[in-house]
Amino acid sequence: MHFLRNLIILFLICIAIKINLCVPTIPSSLKTLPIDGHFDFKQVHHAAKDFGNRYSFLPSAVLHPKSASDIATTVKHIWEMGPGSHLTVAARGHGHSLQGQAQAHRGVVINMESLQGPKMKVHTGNFPYVDVSGSELWINILHETLKHGLAPKSWTDYLHLTVGGTLSNAGISGQAFRHGPQISNVHQLEVVTGKGEVVNCSEKQNSDLFYSVLGGLGQFGIITQARISLEPAPKMVKWIRVLYTDFATFAKDQEMLISGESTFDYIEGFVIINRTGLVNNWRSSFNSNDSAQASHFKSDGRTLFCLELAKYFNPEEMAIVNQEIMTSLSQLNHIPSTLFQSQVPYIEFLDRVHISEIKLRSKGLWEVPHPWLNLLIPRSNIHIFAQQVFGNILTNTSNGPILIYPVNKSKWDNRTSVVLPEEDVFYLVAFLSSAAPSSTGSDGLEHILNQNKRILELCQIDGLAVKQYLPHYSTNGEWRSHFGPQWEAFVHRKSTYDPLAILAPGQRIFQKAAPLSL
Ligand code: FAD
Repeated sequence: MHFLRNLIILFLICIAIKINLCVPTIPSSLKTLPIDGHFDFKQVHHAAKDFGNRYSFLPSAVLHPKSASDIATTVKHIWEMGPGSHLTVAARGHGHSLQGQAQAHRGVVINMESLQGPKMKVHTGNFPYVDVSGSELWINILHETLKHGLAPKSWTDYLHLTVGGTLSNAGISGQAFRHGPQISNVHQLEVVTGKGEVVNCSEKQNSDLFYSVLGGLGQFGIITQARISLEPAPKMVKWIRVLYTDFATFAKDQEMLISGESTFDYIEGFVIINRTGLVNNWRSSFNSNDSAQASHFKSDGRTLFCLELAKYFNPEEMAIVNQEIMTSLSQLNHIPSTLFQSQVPYIEFLDRVHISEIKLRSKGLWEVPHPWLNLLIPRSNIHIFAQQVFGNILTNTSNGPILIYPVNKSKWDNRTSVVLPEEDVFYLVAFLSSAAPSSTGSDGLEHILNQNKRILELCQIDGLAVKQYLPHYSTNGEWRSHFGPQWEAFVHRKSTYDPLAILAPGQRIFQKAAPLSL
């Protein structure tokens, strides 16, 4: 038994160091599988695209499943072909990956959006939750749960992403400081493993699989159902922005706010470098009722740090909420004349990025290359990082927003697969750049990629103990170093749930069918 396990682990490690044995071919047997959905062998180009717009690997087939059983039948069939087949399977949620993570070079892409699981079901009561398909978009969950006066607790900034896609990473936004990421707010999953088994898992049942899959980069199973924790939904949101010129003061205030229980419901922040306007790109959806004083504030090209806060409320609580906000704001040390406030319906606040998506799409600026870089930085190193990067490596923020906000590690579960910095508080710093197609200037892809490289080199040279979020690497050594002491456990989990490395080949951790170099 031990010998067999060791053999499988050795096999996985061989795959991980990219011994590319042979070119996969799609067997005709797929065509005769007893499924309710169907395979498409011709219209496959869509599955070779993603939001990142930089990587394109053509699959040999796209499965449009109708049920979890269609997915299980397909994966089981490939599993039964054994290691010789080299066929891989990628679940594609909404295709909002950045570097081909939901693609499968000459493999099978599962178009999760055609999955027709049981209807979304909201359970009310003291501990409300909703049962959803792994292919469900978060925006649809919001609409459905609001009918019951409820909503999930933890979000991403953009809601047109699938449950399976964000739970495979973490799902982080301004609520994470209090509720943890989305992977901290899941009770139960139904998963199709790399052997084609359909398994229910939770903290109590098949718990190792449950925690493997959460933050597992799609490596251990395809999420077909999830049970998500809910809370009473507010009707309205007070949406506030204040500005700082000094990073240390900004970070101190952010950290003070995330350590308090009754401050705000959402805490984020962003950096503004060398801009005459105060906001850019999709964060311009903020429509503030600026005071006369604030609208006269001029950034004059200085580097500014914008603290973004939200407080949920119902109209009848308005007076008390205003009082609470005043008390919380009085403890901050922002530039006094830069208090921007707005009041919007809860749904509008949560779906704010979509408003900008519509605008960008209309100008043809949504489907451009997105060389994003997301980093998790320990609190003790955030000052040196900020000093070296903002205004130094980066001399403007005209290519897209840079988000920066701290979260509490205590709200994350260390049994999941996600890789985090070691400290109790760490910052998410997200460089969300858009590249101008075919530009060779400072808004071009090459320039932005070079900046990203310099930022990563700085982290390496200065030993900042940074971890990538939505990680992307091209060598086995880089993946090992990303996982650090968690690497062995990750490989072990892989050998248990997907021993032939069939799933999520686009992550390029255990590569079977992707080309050796890009
Ligand atoms: P896909 O890109 O389709 O898939 C992502 C990975 O998950 C792939 O490896 C895929 O194989 C796997 N996968 C997909 N479905 C399943 C499934 N059902 N079971 C198992 N594995 C599966 N992230 C945040 O945390 N916070 C944010 O605020 C945030 N904002 C974003 C804003 C925008 C505009 C965009 C484009 C992305 C944002 N993201 C954010 C990142 C986002 O969470 C990831 O890109 C996510 O992977 C996209 O989800 P998707 O449903 O499109 O997944």
